[in-house]
Amino acid sequence: MVKNKTFTMLKPDSVENGNIGAILEKITTSGFRIVAMKLTQLTTADAKAFYVVHKDRPFFDDLVEYMTRGPIVAAILEKENAVQDFRTLIGATNPSEAAEGTIRNMFAESISQNAVHGSDSDNNAAIESAFHFSEREMF
Ligand code: UDP
Ligand code: MG
Repeated sequence: MVKNKTFTMLKPDSVENGNIGAILEKITTSGFRIVAMKLTQLTTADAKAFYVVHKDRPFFDDLVEYMTRGPIVAAILEKENAVQDFRTLIGATNPSEAAEGTIRNMFAESISQNAVHGSDSDNNAAIESAFHFSEREMF
C-alpha cells in the first residue's frame, strides 16, 4: 500500500498539560513518520480560517478562543493509510466515546478541549499542511 500523509495539531491543552512528549511517542510508535513539525500559535484569523467549515456551529467562538489561547504543535505525518489510521489512533471527538488507548481517551479533557486534531480526508490533509508549512519545511 502506498504511503500518504495526514496533518495534526497537538492543541493548547496538550502543550499546557506537558503532554507533547507522551503524545509524540504514541504517534511515532504507532508507525507514523514526522515529515514536518513546529511549535507555533494560531492567531484569531488563522483559527477562523482553519475551522471555517464550522463557522455556523454554536461552538465556533469557543473553539477559536481555545485554539488561540497558547502554543500548539503542528505536524505532518506519513504512513500507509495515514488519514484513516490517525483518526483511529486519536479516537472519537468526544473523549468519553474514544476507545481505550486512543490519544483522546488518554489525554483529552472534553469534547471541546480534546488534545489533538487529525485531518478527515487526503484533500483536507493537503490543505491543512499547506496552511502551516512551506515545501522547504517538509522532509
Ligand atoms: N468541537 C466542540 N464541540 C462539538 C464538536 C466539536 O467544541 O460539539 C470542537 C472540538 O475541538 C473538535 C473541533 O471542534 O475537535 C472540530 O470538530 P470536528 O467535528 O471536526 O471534530 P474532529 O474532526 O476534531 O474530531
Ligand atoms: Mg474535523
